[in-house]
Amino acid sequence: MSSNIEIKRICEHCSNVFVARTTKTRYCSHICNRRAYKSQLKQDKIQQSDQETLQAMQLPQSDVVATTVVIQKETINVKELAVMLGVSERTLFRLIKEEQFPKIKVGRRLLFSKQMVIDFITSKYKIQCVAS
Ligand SMILES: [Zn+2]
Repeated sequence: MSSNIEIKRICEHCSNVFVARTTKTRYCSHICNRRAYKSQLKQDKIQQSDQETLQAMQLPQSDVVATTVVIQKETINVKELAVMLGVSERTLFRLIKEEQFPKIKVGRRLLFSKQMVIDFITSKYKIQCVAS
């Protein structure tokens, strides 16, 4: 058999299609080979440093994830509230004119507590709230 086989492969580094001489070739060029090798080294270093950080904190990985603080906005502005309720800003302004509509005024800014608005709308318009 001839050794002039052509194996079309995709470079694992730059995703270029190239003709490989052996089935073991993973990169299109020496440059990609070297770059991939370097980035692998870098990844290893990052992983190692992550590992060291975790060990320094003396926490198993699952605890680190559990203690991650998720910041979620509880108050939103008029625009965001209109989007949340799926109404136009004009409709919303009509709604919030009502005295009972829960509003928060911080300086000149008008803010709304998502939960308070949902509670208000639910009780006023008797919308069935489906728990997610
Ligand atoms: Zn390449």
